[in-house]
Amino acid sequence: MGLSGKLALVTGGGRGIGRAVCQILSRENAQVIVTDLNLDNCNQTLQSLSQLSHLAVQSDVSSSNSVKLCFEQILDKYKRAPDIIVNSAGITKDGFLLRMKEQDFDQVIDVNLKGTFLVTQTGAGLMKDQGIQGSIVNIASIVGKTGNIGQANYTASKAGVIGFTKTAAKELGKFGIRVNAVLPGFIQTAMTDAVPDKVKEKIVAEIPLGHLGQPEDIAYTCLFLASSRSKYITGASIEVAGGLGV
Ligand code: NAP
Repeated sequence: MGLSGKLALVTGGGRGIGRAVCQILSRENAQVIVTDLNLDNCNQTLQSLSQLSHLAVQSDVSSSNSVKLCFEQILDKYKRAPDIIVNSAGITKDGFLLRMKEQDFDQVIDVNLKGTFLVTQTGAGLMKDQGIQGSIVNIASIVGKTGNIGQANYTASKAGVIGFTKTAAKELGKFGIRVNAVLPGFIQTAMTDAVPDKVKEKIVAEIPLGHLGQPEDIAYTCLFLASSRSKYITGASIEVAGGLGV
């Protein structure tokens, strides 16, 4: 699934799933723009990539100004829009619905849902203007489909990403731009390291394949969706969850 000559932007690329996506896309010879809140983490990802001309950019996906500045840096260096965008930046602020603070609800929606909107809107606009038949991959979550106790904000944001992806696919298909969502199950990253062991054991007991997933499991699906092997797939939500939530 070679990606030679392709330029890929990955948000949340400083660690976890986003970092694995950067590594796997670069292994297939894409040039990668690694963006994240934390520039040190972006640079660490960058150092783990092959020797192509990659770029690290500090960017907050929940801020339209920061997203605009990020694309300005990309255009400055590469003189073109990315062919591939993977929206992986995301946060959790868990709590029971009846006790959830408004601020925690808003923050999760701002990063996970509005962030996906802002990056897609700017990126797809540039793709259209430059005649690039791009691929956009949004990392949602299996709990956006099933719901999950303690995650009213997060599940709403991820269900939003699934709906947003379908609308974007319908609007952008005529420009040859594909938009798909990946719904990870329980993947071993810093995000899930924070979950208490007892809760993890319960979750694993419900996974048909009997174990957590790895960031690479999600990254390989992103690679497929980014490549021309998936050229007739758009608006899809692909579950990569070991059977959780089927
Ligand atoms: P992670 O290890 O916590 O990585 C998330 C990355 O997003 C971090 O590098 C974080 O930066 C960055 N980020 C947070 N807020 C941001 C913002 N406003 N702007 C730009 N970047 C920001 O989590 P992960 O497990 O890799 O998750 C990646 C994606 O997969 C998320 O969308 C998550 O919801 C989704 N997902 C994960 C799982 C799972 O089991 N791990 C399951 C389903 C879906 P900082 O480190 O600086 O905070």
